[in-house]
Amino acid sequence: MSIDKYRIKLGDRIDLSEWDPRDKSEFDGGKKAGIKATRPLNARLEALQELLYAESKHKVLIVLQARDAGGKDGTIRHVFDGVNPQGVKVASFKKPTSLELAHDYLWRVHPHTPASGEMAIFNRSHYEDVLVVRVHDLVPEKVWRRRYDHINAFEKMLADEGTTILKFYLHISKEEQKERLQARLDEPNKRWKFSSADLAERKLWGAYTEAFEEMLSRTSTDYAPWHIIPADRKWYRNYVISRILVDTLEGLKMRYPQPEEGLDDIVID
Ligand code: ATP
Ligand code: MG
Repeated sequence: MSIDKYRIKLGDRIDLSEWDPRDKSEFDGGKKAGIKATRPLNARLEALQELLYAESKHKVLIVLQARDAGGKDGTIRHVFDGVNPQGVKVASFKKPTSLELAHDYLWRVHPHTPASGEMAIFNRSHYEDVLVVRVHDLVPEKVWRRRYDHINAFEKMLADEGTTILKFYLHISKEEQKERLQARLDEPNKRWKFSSADLAERKLWGAYTEAFEEMLSRTSTDYAPWHIIPADRKWYRNYVISRILVDTLEGLKMRYPQPEEGLDDIVID
């Protein structure tokens, strides 16, 4: 077994109850060792991002989806710690504005996709249009159901045009969500993050589970695979995502561009 076991193949039927949010089987050791082992991966990612920028050939898109308090913000903070902010763009997709709603659901997404040499992170994404939209009946079923095909086609186009796409579903347990929401109530500095809307969403846990399962089953293509990341333990989540990113970027076999000729002879006076 390897870290690849978290990657979903198209058509895999996903039953999230079979995926352990507390799994840590790909790391031999505990929290302290895990945090320590992630540091060199952060440094590697920083170097790979610089190479990505220098070569300016590939585009990298990272999609994060999770339940409320699932750890999207923490993942961005920790995994990209040290990466040059100039080369990374984060796009957070909130409730659509009336202008956005007046367009097709991919309209607001496309401008945030990465350019050559860039890395873009989607904090929530076009997948909300088959998640919250489905769970809350914001459009009829026949409308959201055809979106899996649209999304696959959209991502195929991005991939054909040079985008490496990696999607992460941060898998937390209901108990862990309770603890994290409780912490937002208990700790004064976290209270700003608390939203009573999260409690209403929590009541819909089962409906969200179904929506996530179908999303994972239907949109994990070879050109834009989903990973189910055990996310109850933040350190393990960060470790696994860092490894997948580093492995993927190393697989691109990037090279620094050829420098100008004759640099050895230059004397700067
Ligand atoms: P945090 O984890 O810090 O609370 P967040 O991503 O939950 O961050 P919020 O502003 O709390 O940010 O929530 C954004 C809300 O926007 C979510 O409830 C999400 O479901 C909703 N949303 C995002 N995209 C859509 C969409 N296309 N249609 C309807 N609602 C959407
Ligand atoms: Mg929220």
